[in-house]
Amino acid sequence: MSVSPAPAYRLPQKRALVTELPGPKSQALTARRRSAVAAGVGSAVPVFAADADGGVIVDVDGNSLIDLGSGIAVTSVGASDPHVVDAVREQAGHFTHTCFMVTPYEGYVRVAEELAALTPGDHDKRTVLFNSGAEAVENAVKVARLATGKNAVVAFDHAYHGRTNLTMALTAKSLPYKKHMGPFAPEIYRMPGSYPFRDGLDGVTAAKRVISQIEVQIGADELAAIIIEPIQGEGGFIVPAKGFLPTLVDWAKANGVVFIADEVQTGFARTGQWFASNDEEVVPDIITMAKGIAGGLPLSAITGRADLLDQVHPGGLGGTYGGNPIACAGALGAIEAMRAYDLPGRATSIGDTALSRLRALQHDVSAIGDVRGRGAMIAVEFVTPGTTEPDAALAKAVAAKALEEGVILLTCGSYGNVIRLLPPLVISDELLSDGLDVLEAALRSLI
Ligand SMILES: *Cc1c(COP(=O)(O)O)cnc(C)c1O
Repeated sequence: MSVSPAPAYRLPQKRALVTELPGPKSQALTARRRSAVAAGVGSAVPVFAADADGGVIVDVDGNSLIDLGSGIAVTSVGASDPHVVDAVREQAGHFTHTCFMVTPYEGYVRVAEELAALTPGDHDKRTVLFNSGAEAVENAVKVARLATGKNAVVAFDHAYHGRTNLTMALTAKSLPYKKHMGPFAPEIYRMPGSYPFRDGLDGVTAAKRVISQIEVQIGADELAAIIIEPIQGEGGFIVPAKGFLPTLVDWAKANGVVFIADEVQTGFARTGQWFASNDEEVVPDIITMAKGIAGGLPLSAITGRADLLDQVHPGGLGGTYGGNPIACAGALGAIEAMRAYDLPGRATSIGDTALSRLRALQHDVSAIGDVRGRGAMIAVEFVTPGTTEPDAALAKAVAAKALEEGVILLTCGSYGNVIRLLPPLVISDELLSDGLDVLEAALRSLI
């Protein structure tokens, strides 16, 4: 396979609107969707995709939109990168499935080898592949419980870990993820995290608060695992204060508690390194991965200490589709693209550009309470000027206004008041800059 230093785009990398948004074809599809697809599945934008490449999504009406969401941090290498597409085509032409639990294949083993090499720490590691982020989280908790013989699991305020029963229990926010869908899995304990903009605590103090609360409310001898996103995603792109994660990890290691880093959103070059844990040299016992892992193919993984994972009896882990051969081919292609284009470096440069622009904007616009992030995982938190009172209406209005101009922006946050930027890491400088212009103009027009 050819290795190119920069992506050769298939579609023109520009924002171009030929109809109002949503256009007539998208509107017709939305009407069909309403009578066929359950209302519980939301969509951030009412625009149907027809094609996508690099930093653009072309809709069914021929509009070319700037993608600053990557389908929620998935298409880091773009939505049709040749490394991924060629690998997938090649694999699909041979076999689409055998089930790794029936007749194994090399692609699965190669992905496991790559993950052992890429994830933090040089200890002996084992990997299991699944389909979704939630499934990876479920299995990380299964392994931690089996390996420690303990039950309790600590999760955090603002955490998001998925939509299955156990992961709903781990997730903090009620609406829309949990409301009226309980009862939830037991033995989950929620702790305050580190949210510098709102708690003002340094990292070590915030971690000591957690540790003391764990010791009082649970006890290390009951606690199987601590699970945390190194930068919280859906909860608001919350970057913990320095020292928070290492202090927790040290305590977990000293107390026989499995430290699980949920890097489903932060992983695979997004934050400027292969994993966000790398930033403070945190070495998780188990790391969960999905989203950016396979260039859009459904794949997830847990990689962790061999002495933990190998305790599980044969048959205790797996799933019919887990590590599907086409998804594995996609992952190997995506990892190759990340190396070929130096996407960790590219994420850092996207972060430098976007953060400096947004911080300059913050000086001008008092409704911006906080600008934060790392690499290409960047957030703007809106507040009532002069307070920390969340302003969700403004975040929503900015996203809606930007969409009118052809820029896909996602919101997030426990209070719904955060705009998050998750561009494909292969986005061109010009497109990124145009997207930021639109964001700025949208905000200025609303205040
Ligand atoms: C998206 C996400 C999940 C859930 O992944 P799915 O593939 O949607 O099940 C879990 N953890 C984090 C941190 C996520 O961002």
